[in-house]
Amino acid sequence: MADHDLDLYALLGISQDADADTIKKAYRRLARQLHPDVNPDPETQEKFKEVSRAYEILSDPQKRAAYDRGGDVFGPAGAGFGAGFSFTDIMDAFFGGQPGAQGRGPRPRSHRGQDALIRMEVSLADAAFGVTRELKVDTAVLCTTCHGEGTAPGTHPVPCETCRGTGEVAHVQRSFLGEIRTLRPCSACRGFGTLIPDPCRECSGDGRVRARRSITVKIPAGVDTGTRVQLAGQGEVGPGGGPPGDLYVEVHVAPHPVFTRDGTTLHCTVTLPMTAAALGTVLTIPTLEADVEQGAGSGVETEFELDVKPGTQSGSEHTLRGRGVPGLRGGRGDLVVTVVVDTPTRLDPRQEELLRELAAIRGEEKPSGNHGSGRSAGMFGRIRDAFNGPPNRQ
Ligand SMILES: [Zn+2]
Ligand SMILES: [Zn+2]
Repeated sequence: MADHDLDLYALLGISQDADADTIKKAYRRLARQLHPDVNPDPETQEKFKEVSRAYEILSDPQKRAAYDRGGDVFGPAGAGFGAGFSFTDIMDAFFGGQPGAQGRGPRPRSHRGQDALIRMEVSLADAAFGVTRELKVDTAVLCTTCHGEGTAPGTHPVPCETCRGTGEVAHVQRSFLGEIRTLRPCSACRGFGTLIPDPCRECSGDGRVRARRSITVKIPAGVDTGTRVQLAGQGEVGPGGGPPGDLYVEVHVAPHPVFTRDGTTLHCTVTLPMTAAALGTVLTIPTLEADVEQGAGSGVETEFELDVKPGTQSGSEHTLRGRGVPGLRGGRGDLVVTVVVDTPTRLDPRQEELLRELAAIRGEEKPSGNHGSGRSAGMFGRIRDAFNGPPNRQ
């Protein structure tokens, strides 16, 4: 659209006889809706440029008169117009004005410190039942020489002369909106409003130093790899001796030689000789508690007996309620013992003779093998039945 075709009054939503105050109010209202800082949509940005142009012309009595006469008031300006001022600049131009009114004042030298994270490896038993550990941590701590103030002993910060202690200096820009006054952090004092003429030698004026210290960490029962334990106020001390952040201890659970863990469920696998699986036996299984040092006579079970019934199949699972890992919110998971039957590999002549004799008695000298749908119909059998009904008997 050529500029000459624009109806500037329509753009601002005002009538041709609007007074200066009405024009200003209309633009202020539109700038609130359309400024790129508020609404980054490209179409809206284009509209904002047009509206800003309309305001520039209509707010200037000479340009407005020229426009009303049908003259060319646009000139070569164009692209980017109005975009050079931030939304805050525009709003400040309308609402600000008092020096320092919109200032935030000097920024404080002291800030809360950052949170810190350390990783800690624990055994499966310690993760399950909880443990208290001494831990060495390396964080920023308060400088004891200056107590966080950052000044050499006997000295103090002095007010900055450049900004007179406000931490900000005013910059004035001329624009179609009139004078736009913005406050920027003072470069002499970096916005603090004060200068430290003689910094503490211990901390170079930062108010904190790095130190290694020992802390006691209580890991609750039921944690798993990735669990973070929060220690309030044990993180980094902030700049200027600001309050410390928190320390997070991230738990990593070491692999266990017997048990694997899945949430609160423990798994272990025991391998049995073929004969024991066939005849039945009693197995002694260690408990997770066996890993934890117990005082004498603590009454904690370090092992228990698992009754393996005669004819136990390889791969069969035995679930033992409440022998797994305690949950973080209470309760305790199960232990699942999987039995694997070990087929003997090296037979002496006597053993082979006995096995052949057993095979003969059981009629197993030339077994046909079981293809998976013997005793029960098996998975495929059940699916087929579901789709076709029971197999036809002919
Ligand atoms: Zn210091
Ligand atoms: Zn300053």
